[in-house]
Amino acid sequence: MLATLDQFHRVPRVLRLDMSGQPIRWITWQSAVSLYTRDLVRWTLGESVLRIRGGYSRLDGSRTVVDVNSIVACDGRIFQRDRGQIPPLTNQALFVRDNNTCMYCGQQHSVFNLTRDHIVPKSMGGTDDWTNVVAACKRCNHHKGNRLVEDCGWELIALPYTPNLAEYLALINSGRILGDQMSFLQTQFGNARRKRDAIKEQRARLPN
Ligand SMILES: [Zn+2]
Repeated sequence: MLATLDQFHRVPRVLRLDMSGQPIRWITWQSAVSLYTRDLVRWTLGESVLRIRGGYSRLDGSRTVVDVNSIVACDGRIFQRDRGQIPPLTNQALFVRDNNTCMYCGQQHSVFNLTRDHIVPKSMGGTDDWTNVVAACKRCNHHKGNRLVEDCGWELIALPYTPNLAEYLALINSGRILGDQMSFLQTQFGNARRKRDAIKEQRARLPN
C-alpha cells in the first residue's frame, strides 16, 4: 500500500537487485529515490510502498512525485557479486539463522545470552565459518568448552549451513521485511534453509 514517510513507524528498506534479478543489498528510501531520479531503475517488483514529494518545477510549477517500489532492479554502478560468494559471518546473522535458539539445548534465548560456538573447537583446528559455528547459550557453550559435541554426549538440533545471498539478506533485515520482499527472496533460498523452515513450521503446529 502506498504511504508517505510520516505514516511509517520505521520506513521499510528497499531491496536492490541487479539487472539479472540477483538481490544485491538493502538500501534506504533516500538511496532508492536517488536511483529513481537519476533514472537508474530499470524494472521493479512488489508494491509501490512509499510516495515522496519533491520540489516544484520552475518551468510549469508541477511537483515531482516519486513512488518507490519495495524491490528495484537497477543498472549503473555494478555490484558484481559472485553467486557463490560467502556472506560475512556475524553474530547477528548467525543468531537469526539459528532462530535465536541454542543448537545444543534447544532453548530460545535473547541475543545477550547467546554466543558463537565452534562445533569443532578452534583449539582443535576448527574454522570460523558458517558450517562450523552455531548459536549456543552461554551455559551450553561453557559446559562444552573445548570439547567435541559427541564428547559431551550431545547432538546438534539442526545442521549449520552457509546462507546464500538471498538468505543472508533475509537474516540481516529480519523483522522488517515486507511480504513481497520475503516472497521474492524465498524463491532463491537454498535447500538447507527450506528444510529448516519446514521443520520450524511443523514444530509450530504441534500442541504444547
Ligand atoms: Zn543451551
